[in-house]
Amino acid sequence: MPELPEVETVRRGLAPAMVGARFTKVAQNRPDLRFPFPERFAKRLEGQEVTSLGRRAKYLLADLSSGEVLVMHLGMSGRFLVTKDGATAEPGSFYQTPGGQSPHDHVVFTLSNGAVITYNDTRRFGFMDLVPRPEIATCRHFAGMGIEPLGNELSGETIARLFEGKRTPLKAALLDQRLIAGLGNIYVCEALFRTGLHPEAAAGSLVSKKGQPTQKAHVLAEVIRDVLNEAVAAGGSTLRDHAQVDGTLGYFQHRFKVYDREGEACVTPGCKGTVARLVQSGRSTFYCPKCQK
Ligand SMILES: [Zn+2]
Repeated sequence: MPELPEVETVRRGLAPAMVGARFTKVAQNRPDLRFPFPERFAKRLEGQEVTSLGRRAKYLLADLSSGEVLVMHLGMSGRFLVTKDGATAEPGSFYQTPGGQSPHDHVVFTLSNGAVITYNDTRRFGFMDLVPRPEIATCRHFAGMGIEPLGNELSGETIARLFEGKRTPLKAALLDQRLIAGLGNIYVCEALFRTGLHPEAAAGSLVSKKGQPTQKAHVLAEVIRDVLNEAVAAGGSTLRDHAQVDGTLGYFQHRFKVYDREGEACVTPGCKGTVARLVQSGRSTFYCPKCQK
């Protein structure tokens, strides 16, 4: 399942093919994915220019010259394939000569710059929507959504404001999309490990009695950004590797410090601990009982 860094990697891969180009043809091959496509989906896109391609949490947002925003979510298995007729693949380029059609190619965008972008989704938990730009913040996808973890908004002070008085375990508070949007299980485990915080500690323990962030709150904010940025950077390099093979954007295997390492020795120098697993809200948490207090 693509997490925030993978979605950001996909955004960076798609942007050169989409931004500044017009949709000349849109083929929608089925009426729905996870949700029905919006009415007259193809017609509302055709002829429109993509003026920018942004991201909010795990959603991609293509601003159109019509004033609408094409909202795209990859769900569990969504992926984009970018092809450009006649272009030979180059190292560092994500253009590929077109491959065969798949029954899971649900949307095919043809753009005025010659790029063809195919959306493929075997499990169909992804979706696309069209929302007028002024309604983006209040529409059903983004209303009540928490702050963006990769932006400057995330700081020790913000953590203090969001977590003050909360007895919820830190792990659950960090996964709560109404507080911080788009942080997934893997990256929460990694961030807590690097900060030396126990996943079951109360979220409110990062806030002083006067409502000020503790030192660990400042460190946690920085570590979350680092963990995500490192994964985006790793995705960027794998993006190029993938492109040479099949032109697929965005998925990468990343070796984590605690995630999925139950029973292995802790990687912290000098620590004799063993990575343990516990289940919180039905999901696995990996942590080092020696480093994370
Ligand atoms: Zn350890």
